[in-house]
Amino acid sequence: MKKETRYRQELVHFGKLLHEYGYVAPTDGNLSARLDEQYVLITPTCISKGMMRPQDLIVVDMDGHKVRGGDSVSSEIAMHLLIYSMRSEVKAVVHAHPPVATGYAAAGIPLNPALVCEAVIGLRAVPLAPYATPGTAELDDVLRPLVAEHEAILMANHGVVTYGEDLLRAYLKMELVEHFATISLVTKLLGQEHLLNAEEIERLREQRQHTF
Ligand SMILES: [Zn+2]
Repeated sequence: MKKETRYRQELVHFGKLLHEYGYVAPTDGNLSARLDEQYVLITPTCISKGMMRPQDLIVVDMDGHKVRGGDSVSSEIAMHLLIYSMRSEVKAVVHAHPPVATGYAAAGIPLNPALVCEAVIGLRAVPLAPYATPGTAELDDVLRPLVAEHEAILMANHGVVTYGEDLLRAYLKMELVEHFATISLVTKLLGQEHLLNAEEIERLREQRQHTF
């Protein structure tokens, strides 16, 4: 199957999952996949990510200009292109507003993976980028210092962006962030947080290369 055809199907599939899990509503969020050095396939603006068809997706060049597709491209295209330009190995970007992790972002609290061993392995750290208006150059400015060292970033008063070597990995990171944010919230409700120590974290990081 042609790569673009497969990517179109995958973007529709993972868009449905984002919608089913309540990570996006009503037309929020956007997903993209890098076709090659020159082109990116991305979701259009103003469409439910749970109701997309493969033909709804739009091809843009690395400057964000539309090459193929009917609707307007997502207003948050710049964030995707920034990540692709800084991380050549990244082939997919997922942006959503999962409610618990976005709650942390709105409260101004970064997630500390040292609470749960799987989060240390899968996420390292989840930093919080300061607030900037979506779709503007200011958002690029606050993300730029964080993109190289992370694959999951909270954006204050906005949402979450995750990325990886393919759409599955990028999507699973979004799931992990939201799941981990929920666990973190429970520890706060229970009033106690026992963090893993530095030695335990180091041992887990050595395992990281064997996971997604
Ligand atoms: Zn957004």
